[in-house]
Amino acid sequence: MGYDIESPRQAGSTRRDVLSIAAAVLAGGAFTAAGPMAHAVAEPDGCCDADFDEDFEAALAEADAEVPDARVLAPEGPPRQFALPLRRRYRVTARYGVRGDWLGGHHTGIDLAVPKGTPVYAVGAGTVVLARWSGAYGNAVTVRLPDGHYAVYGHLSHIAVRQGARIGTGNRLGNSGATGRATGPHLHLEIRARRGYGSDINPVTYLARRGVRLQ
Ligand SMILES: [Zn+2]
Repeated sequence: MGYDIESPRQAGSTRRDVLSIAAAVLAGGAFTAAGPMAHAVAEPDGCCDADFDEDFEAALAEADAEVPDARVLAPEGPPRQFALPLRRRYRVTARYGVRGDWLGGHHTGIDLAVPKGTPVYAVGAGTVVLARWSGAYGNAVTVRLPDGHYAVYGHLSHIAVRQGARIGTGNRLGNSGATGRATGPHLHLEIRARRGYGSDINPVTYLARRGVRLQ
Protein backbone atom coordinates (compact mmCIF):
# COMPACT_ATOMS: atom_id res chain seq x y z
CA MET A 1 0.00 0.00 0.00
CA GLY A 2 2.77 2.40 0.86
CA TYR A 3 4.81 4.24 -1.66
CA ASP A 4 7.92 6.28 -1.54
CA ILE A 5 8.07 9.76 -2.89
CA GLU A 6 11.20 11.24 -4.33
CA SER A 7 10.80 14.64 -2.84
CA PRO A 8 11.08 17.52 -5.26
CA ARG A 9 12.75 19.32 -2.40
CA GLN A 10 14.24 22.01 -4.52
CA ALA A 11 12.07 21.86 -7.60
CA GLY A 12 9.76 24.78 -7.87
CA SER A 13 11.00 26.31 -4.65
CA THR A 14 11.92 29.54 -6.38
CA ARG A 15 8.41 29.88 -7.70
CA ARG A 16 6.96 29.03 -4.31
CA ASP A 17 9.25 31.53 -2.64
CA VAL A 18 8.04 34.19 -5.01
CA LEU A 19 4.43 33.22 -4.34
CA SER A 20 5.06 33.20 -0.59
CA ILE A 21 6.60 36.62 -0.73
CA ALA A 22 3.74 37.87 -2.88
CA ALA A 23 1.24 36.38 -0.46
CA ALA A 24 3.03 37.97 2.49
CA VAL A 25 3.05 41.34 0.80
CA LEU A 26 -0.59 41.03 -0.19
CA ALA A 27 -1.49 40.09 3.36
CA GLY A 28 0.44 43.05 4.67
CA GLY A 29 2.81 40.74 6.53
CA ALA A 30 6.44 41.41 7.22
CA PHE A 31 9.05 39.51 5.29
CA THR A 32 12.72 39.61 6.06
CA ALA A 33 15.37 39.82 3.39
CA ALA A 34 17.08 36.87 5.06
CA GLY A 35 14.30 34.62 3.82
CA PRO A 36 11.85 32.34 5.53
CA MET A 37 14.47 30.06 7.07
CA ALA A 38 15.92 32.89 9.15
CA HIS A 39 13.81 32.35 12.23
CA ALA A 40 14.65 28.66 12.39
CA VAL A 41 18.37 29.28 12.86
CA ALA A 42 18.10 29.90 16.60
CA GLU A 43 16.55 26.48 17.17
CA PRO A 44 18.92 23.54 17.83
CA ASP A 45 18.20 21.06 15.05
CA GLY A 46 15.27 19.26 13.54
CA CYS A 47 12.84 22.12 13.63
CA CYS A 48 11.00 23.63 10.77
CA ASP A 49 9.72 26.41 8.67
CA ALA A 50 6.39 24.92 7.72
CA ASP A 51 4.65 28.09 6.76
CA PHE A 52 1.93 29.46 4.53
CA ASP A 53 2.31 27.70 1.20
CA GLU A 54 -0.03 28.77 -1.55
CA ASP A 55 0.23 25.51 -3.49
CA PHE A 56 -0.49 23.41 -0.39
CA GLU A 57 -3.43 25.53 0.75
CA ALA A 58 -4.95 25.48 -2.73
CA ALA A 59 -4.54 21.71 -3.05
CA LEU A 60 -6.00 21.21 0.41
CA ALA A 61 -9.03 23.39 -0.35
CA GLU A 62 -9.68 21.48 -3.56
CA ALA A 63 -9.24 18.07 -1.92
CA ASP A 64 -11.35 19.05 1.06
CA ALA A 65 -14.28 19.77 -1.24
CA GLU A 66 -13.80 16.50 -3.11
CA VAL A 67 -13.15 14.02 -0.32
CA PRO A 68 -16.34 13.13 1.54
CA ASP A 69 -16.40 12.28 5.23
CA ALA A 70 -15.83 8.59 5.57
CA ARG A 71 -17.26 6.34 8.22
CA VAL A 72 -14.39 6.15 10.64
CA LEU A 73 -12.64 2.86 11.15
CA ALA A 74 -10.96 2.36 14.46
CA PRO A 75 -8.96 -0.86 14.35
CA GLU A 76 -6.82 0.14 17.31
CA GLY A 77 -9.37 1.75 19.56
CA PRO A 78 -12.72 3.45 19.79
CA PRO A 79 -13.18 6.40 17.39
CA ARG A 80 -13.13 9.02 20.12
CA GLN A 81 -9.81 7.81 21.50
CA PHE A 82 -6.68 9.83 20.85
CA ALA A 83 -3.01 8.85 21.01
CA LEU A 84 0.52 10.17 20.62
CA PRO A 85 1.85 10.46 17.05
CA LEU A 86 5.16 8.83 18.03
CA ARG A 87 5.95 5.70 20.03
CA ARG A 88 9.57 6.44 20.78
CA ARG A 89 11.25 9.26 22.68
CA TYR A 90 11.17 12.61 20.97
CA ARG A 91 12.49 16.05 21.70
CA VAL A 92 10.39 19.19 21.31
CA THR A 93 12.57 21.46 19.19
CA ALA A 94 9.98 24.17 18.51
CA ARG A 95 6.87 24.65 20.60
CA TYR A 96 3.55 25.80 19.26
CA GLY A 97 3.13 29.54 19.16
CA VAL A 98 6.77 30.63 19.40
CA ARG A 99 7.06 34.03 17.74
CA GLY A 100 8.89 34.36 14.45
CA ASP A 101 8.63 35.70 10.95
CA TRP A 102 6.17 33.08 9.83
CA LEU A 103 3.35 34.64 7.84
CA GLY A 104 1.03 34.12 10.79
CA GLY A 105 3.63 35.54 13.19
CA HIS A 106 4.14 32.32 15.11
CA HIS A 107 4.94 28.62 14.73
CA THR A 108 1.65 26.99 13.73
CA GLY A 109 2.47 23.50 15.03
CA ILE A 110 4.80 21.66 17.35
CA ASP A 111 8.12 20.13 16.21
CA LEU A 112 9.00 16.72 17.59
CA ALA A 113 12.55 15.67 16.67
CA VAL A 114 13.05 11.97 15.94
CA PRO A 115 15.41 10.13 13.59
CA LYS A 116 14.43 9.89 9.95
CA GLY A 117 12.28 6.85 9.30
CA THR A 118 10.49 6.84 12.67
CA PRO A 119 6.91 5.60 12.22
CA VAL A 120 4.28 8.36 12.57
CA TYR A 121 0.81 7.43 13.80
CA ALA A 122 -2.57 9.16 13.66
CA VAL A 123 -3.40 11.07 16.85
CA GLY A 124 -7.08 10.62 16.09
CA ALA A 125 -9.41 8.85 13.69
CA GLY A 126 -10.57 10.61 10.54
CA THR A 127 -10.40 10.91 6.78
CA VAL A 128 -7.19 11.52 4.84
CA VAL A 129 -7.87 14.66 2.83
CA LEU A 130 -4.40 15.08 1.36
CA ALA A 131 -1.38 12.75 1.31
CA ARG A 132 1.26 14.14 -1.02
CA TRP A 133 3.98 16.70 -1.52
CA SER A 134 2.76 19.79 0.32
CA GLY A 135 5.33 22.50 -0.37
CA ALA A 136 6.85 23.97 2.79
CA TYR A 137 5.35 21.06 4.74
CA GLY A 138 7.23 18.59 2.52
CA ASN A 139 5.56 15.21 2.17
CA ALA A 140 2.55 15.65 4.41
CA VAL A 141 -0.63 13.90 5.45
CA THR A 142 -3.65 16.05 6.31
CA VAL A 143 -6.50 14.36 8.17
CA ARG A 144 -10.02 15.71 8.71
CA LEU A 145 -11.07 14.78 12.24
CA PRO A 146 -14.70 13.99 13.14
CA ASP A 147 -14.96 17.20 15.20
CA GLY A 148 -14.18 19.32 12.13
CA HIS A 149 -10.56 19.95 13.07
CA TYR A 150 -7.67 19.09 10.75
CA ALA A 151 -4.38 17.45 11.69
CA VAL A 152 -1.33 18.06 9.49
CA TYR A 153 1.68 15.75 9.76
CA GLY A 154 4.58 17.39 7.96
CA HIS A 155 8.13 16.72 6.65
CA LEU A 156 7.59 12.95 6.21
CA SER A 157 10.16 10.82 4.38
CA HIS A 158 7.52 8.27 3.42
CA ILE A 159 3.73 8.40 3.13
CA ALA A 160 1.83 5.18 3.87
CA VAL A 161 -1.78 6.27 3.31
CA ARG A 162 -3.73 7.57 0.35
CA GLN A 163 -6.18 10.40 -0.16
CA GLY A 164 -9.68 9.45 0.93
CA ALA A 165 -8.53 6.69 3.29
CA ARG A 166 -10.43 6.15 6.50
CA ILE A 167 -8.04 5.86 9.37
CA GLY A 168 -8.30 4.97 13.02
CA THR A 169 -6.38 6.31 15.97
CA GLY A 170 -2.89 4.82 15.95
CA ASN A 171 -2.84 3.90 12.26
CA ARG A 172 0.58 4.42 10.74
CA LEU A 173 0.54 7.38 8.37
CA GLY A 174 4.15 7.22 7.25
CA ASN A 175 7.66 7.85 8.46
CA SER A 176 9.32 10.98 9.77
CA GLY A 177 11.81 12.89 7.71
CA ALA A 178 13.07 16.33 6.81
CA THR A 179 11.26 17.05 3.54
CA GLY A 180 10.09 20.55 2.72
CA ARG A 181 11.44 23.41 4.78
CA ALA A 182 13.15 21.62 7.66
CA THR A 183 16.57 21.90 9.29
CA GLY A 184 16.60 18.22 10.24
CA PRO A 185 14.38 15.19 10.76
CA HIS A 186 11.29 15.90 12.87
CA LEU A 187 7.54 15.67 12.83
CA HIS A 188 5.64 18.95 12.50
CA LEU A 189 2.23 18.29 14.00
CA GLU A 190 -0.33 21.00 13.36
CA ILE A 191 -3.96 21.09 14.49
CA ARG A 192 -6.30 23.48 12.70
CA ALA A 193 -9.78 24.39 13.95
CA ARG A 194 -10.79 24.85 10.32
CA ARG A 195 -9.15 23.96 7.05
CA GLY A 196 -7.37 27.19 6.32
CA TYR A 197 -3.96 28.49 7.30
CA GLY A 198 -4.16 30.65 10.42
CA SER A 199 -6.84 28.60 12.18
CA ASP A 200 -4.19 26.65 14.06
CA ILE A 201 -4.65 25.85 17.74
CA ASN A 202 -2.25 24.51 20.37
CA PRO A 203 -1.84 20.76 19.71
CA VAL A 204 -0.66 20.20 23.29
CA THR A 205 -3.90 21.66 24.69
CA TYR A 206 -6.04 19.91 22.08
CA LEU A 207 -4.58 16.51 22.91
CA ALA A 208 -4.47 17.15 26.67
CA ARG A 209 -8.24 17.71 26.65
CA ARG A 210 -8.54 14.30 25.03
CA GLY A 211 -6.35 12.53 27.55
CA VAL A 212 -3.02 12.58 25.68
CA ARG A 213 0.06 14.26 27.14
CA LEU A 214 2.26 15.45 24.29
CA GLN A 215 4.88 17.17 26.43
ZN1 LIG B 1 7.08 23.04 12.75
